[in-house]
Amino acid sequence: MHRSSKPAIVGQVNEKSDVIPPSRTAAFASCRSRGTGLRTNCMPSDPPSPCKLPFLGLGAEAAAAELRAWGWPEFRATQLYDWVYHKLVTNPQDMSNFSKADRSALQERLEFTSCVITRQQNSTDGTTKLLLTWPDGKNAETVIIPDGARRTACVSSQVGCPVGCKFCASGIEGVKANLSAAQIVEQVYVLNCLLAADDARISNIVFMGMGEPLANYSQVITAVRVLHEPTGFNIGARKITISTVGIPSRIRDLAHEQLPLNLALSLHAPNEPLRRELIPWADHFALPDILDACRFYFEKTGREITFEYILLAGVNDQPKHARELLRVCKTIRANVNLIRYNEVASLPYGRPKSDDVVKLQEILRDGGVNAHVRKSHGRDIDAACGQLRRREEQAKAGTSLPVLSQGPLEV
Ligand code: SF4
Repeated sequence: MHRSSKPAIVGQVNEKSDVIPPSRTAAFASCRSRGTGLRTNCMPSDPPSPCKLPFLGLGAEAAAAELRAWGWPEFRATQLYDWVYHKLVTNPQDMSNFSKADRSALQERLEFTSCVITRQQNSTDGTTKLLLTWPDGKNAETVIIPDGARRTACVSSQVGCPVGCKFCASGIEGVKANLSAAQIVEQVYVLNCLLAADDARISNIVFMGMGEPLANYSQVITAVRVLHEPTGFNIGARKITISTVGIPSRIRDLAHEQLPLNLALSLHAPNEPLRRELIPWADHFALPDILDACRFYFEKTGREITFEYILLAGVNDQPKHARELLRVCKTIRANVNLIRYNEVASLPYGRPKSDDVVKLQEILRDGGVNAHVRKSHGRDIDAACGQLRRREEQAKAGTSLPVLSQGPLEV
């Protein structure tokens, strides 16, 4: 789809934060000139290229095997990795240590990056949220969250989400598609291109964007392995967090991957009836089974589980909920992240009162549980997961979402 040269501002979206500022645009211009293939939203998409192999989903061994199969010497794969993952160059024509014929072969046979940035929002606190769209029609949100020296990427694993949490924009219309491993890695690639202007790189990754990562297990694990490779982006396994509502068999699979990833269980309720009310998928997987799988994960990996607990005003944030949550925490080695809710247009849930948050945290801490209230990021943009994509979909349909007093993004 061809778009106008101005960044899209739909309905009542915060105009200031939805515009790509000059510094960020410059980052993309510089990436483009080095041939990353990234485009701002003024550029049309490339046509889909089904015959090309998606390079970002391959991993070092598979990439080397592919090049070997072409009859190329081993060192070519190392050179290619260096261009893509270190120099952030994905246009073969700019890979100066390849011959003209080799560059043409790379161009014909491999697909490096193919997404378009269809929306970008920048918070005054440095948080940047992008909506990426691929030629196959999939779109997904991805976010950079700065915190001191840390640059965390919050990535999506699916288009929409099958879990349908009652308070979340991503789940409102269910899941549309799984993202491929290459599309997951590409999110980090794009964020690194943005950060390159400040000589920075993504240091941590959380799978807390759109989707249930364990429902797209093979693509997520492939992407994690690619992102973890020392010759690639080299993100340590301990700096990667998989956040799930809990699929016991997949949690056990994850425990066998020989990767000490952080596992975050999105609990959001201290008892089964409330969990089933808030998380429709909870009907399929009972909490005791999920906790058993989490204990197994801890035994196999030595990694303590994190409970993610979104605080919804008057729903799960009262002292009685804290006491119930404390009882759950006593059954497992877990710490708790308390997350103040980001309001979502058209959904009936509210942000908790500060007093209630403090009280709940106190009860947990007094009971010996390590409980943190997550720092707020991106208060002035569409912080809640799935909202930016929803705005885009509504804009395409000719409707628009009301602007909310937007809540923070917390990881
Ligand atoms: S909160 Fe997470 S798991 Fe629940 S619907 Fe939203 S994206 Fe899916």
